[in-house]
Amino acid sequence: MADALQPTASHYVNGGYVDDVAGEEMPVIYPASGKTIATVHAATATIVEQAIASAVAAQRDWAHLPGRERGRVLTRAANLIRERNRALSVLETHDTGKPLQETLVADATSGADALEYFGGLAASLTGEHILLGEDWAYTVREPLGVCVGIGAWNYPTQIACWKAAPALACGNAMVFKPSETTPLCALKVAEILTEAGAPPGLFNVVQGMGEVGASLVGDPRIAKVSLTGSVPTGRGVYAAAAKGMKHVTMELGGKSPLIVFDDADIDNAVGGAILGNFYSSGQVCSNGTRVFVQRSVREAFLERLTERLADAVIGDPLDEATSFGPMVSERQMEIVLGYIDKGREEGARLVTGGKRLDRDGFFVAPTVFADTTDQMTIVREEIFGPVMAVLDFDTEDEAIARANATAFGLSAGVFTRDLSRAHRVIGRLEAGTCFINSYNDAPVEMPFGGVKMSGVGRENAKAAIEHYSQLKSVYVRMGDVEAPF
Ligand code: NDP
Repeated sequence: MADALQPTASHYVNGGYVDDVAGEEMPVIYPASGKTIATVHAATATIVEQAIASAVAAQRDWAHLPGRERGRVLTRAANLIRERNRALSVLETHDTGKPLQETLVADATSGADALEYFGGLAASLTGEHILLGEDWAYTVREPLGVCVGIGAWNYPTQIACWKAAPALACGNAMVFKPSETTPLCALKVAEILTEAGAPPGLFNVVQGMGEVGASLVGDPRIAKVSLTGSVPTGRGVYAAAAKGMKHVTMELGGKSPLIVFDDADIDNAVGGAILGNFYSSGQVCSNGTRVFVQRSVREAFLERLTERLADAVIGDPLDEATSFGPMVSERQMEIVLGYIDKGREEGARLVTGGKRLDRDGFFVAPTVFADTTDQMTIVREEIFGPVMAVLDFDTEDEAIARANATAFGLSAGVFTRDLSRAHRVIGRLEAGTCFINSYNDAPVEMPFGGVKMSGVGRENAKAAIEHYSQLKSVYVRMGDVEAPF
C-alpha cells in the first residue's frame, strides 16, 4: 500500500495522531492476499481517557457555535473527501478487500453525502414556539453531549461518517471505535475533519476490540452510543448503555426477504437479487438473502441468475474491472464456508458456487442454493457472505407470512409490475427499510434502520436528528402565579 495513504499512528485524539505501544498489537490484513499491511495498537486506558476528556472539552464550545458554522466544517470535510475519493477508496479496498469498482462509488462518496447533507441541515435545527393563551412555551433542540460510535467492518468509512455527520451537526462530539478488522479508514475521516476546521477533540478515533468499546460505553461522561454490529453485540451494548440511561442507536443484522412475483421483470429481479446478495461479497446487513420466487417463474429466475453470475469478474480488488472480491477476513470466510456445508448437509440444492476459490486471499465463490426450506440453518441465520437461498412460494399471503417469520426486521424488497400489490405487500412486511422493484439503495435523504431484533433508531435523513439531540421545554408565564397557599 502506498505510504502516503497510511495513517501515521493507531489513534486520532485531540486533533492529531497518537500511539501507545503498550496496547495490544492488531495486525491489519489485506483480505485479497492474506498479508499484513499495517499494525495498530489497541487503545490503552490512557488513550481512552485522553479521547473522552478531549471530546468533553471540545463539545462545550462546539455546541455554542451557530449551526451554520458547524455546518460549514462538515461541508468542507465533504468536499475534501470528494477531492480525495480515489485515494480514500484505495485505502478502503485495502482495509476491507472490497473491489475498487465498488469503493470508488459507495464508500467515501456515501460518507461525503452524509457530511454534506447534515452540514446543510445544521443551520435549520430549531425548536418550536407553542402558544398557550396568555402564556407560552418553547422548545430548544440541544445536543446530547459526547457520543460513542462503534463500527462494523463492512463499511468503515461510511459508518464513521453516517455517525459523525448527524452527531456533529447537532453540536455533539464523538469518540469512534472502528472494528478491529478494519481500523484504517476512520482515521482518515478524523484527519479530514480536522483539516476542514473541526476543533481538536471533536471527533476522536480509538482502536481496539470489544473491551475498548465496552469501556467507552460504560463511561459516565458518554451520553449516547450508536452501534453498527451484530444482534448479540447490540444486545450487550444496549444493556450496558441502559445502566447509565444513555441514548442508543442500534443498526444490527438481518435476514431480509426479497419477494419476486410471477409478473416481475425477471432481469430486474435478478439484478436486485445480485445487488442484495453479492455486492461487497454479501457482507451487507440489509441484504435480501431469503429470495422468495413464485413457483411458476422459479426456473427462469435461476437460469438467468446463473447466467449473470458467470459474468462476475473475481480477482484483484485493485483492478477496476473486478466486480467481486474476497471476504473481509479468514475468520469470516470460515464462517461462510461453514454455512455452505450446513446448506448441503440439510439438503439444499447447490445451484452454483459453494466453495473457496483456489487463489491467495479469502475468496468464496458467489453461491446460490435452491429448494431451500424455512427451517434450514442457511435460511434462518445471518451468514454475512455471498450465499443466496432461493425459496419457492405460491400465494401472496403465504409469501408475506413466511417473510415475516423471523426475529430480524431490517429490510425487505418486492419485485412485481402490479404497483397496488407492491404497496400492499410492503405495507404488511415487518421491516424498517423497504424497496419496490429495487434493492439496497441507501441515499442519505432516506431514513435507514431496522425493526424487531434488527435495531433501534434510524440513521440518515432528518430522522437521525431526533437521535442525536434532545428537546428542552420551557414554560413562560406572563401573569401572576396562583398557588393554593
Ligand atoms: P460485531 O457485532 O462483532 O462488532 C461490531 C462492533 O462492536 C465492533 O467494533 C466490535 O469490536 C464492537 N464490540 C464487540 N463487543 C463489544 C462490547 N461488548 N462493547 C462495545 N463494543 C463491542 O459485528 P461485526 O463487526 O462482525 O459486523 C458484522 C455485523 O454487523 C453483522 O451481523 C451485520 O449484520 C451487522 N451490520 C449491521 C448494519 C446495519 O446498519 N444494520 C450494517 C453493517 C453491519 P471488535 O470487532 O473490534 O471486537
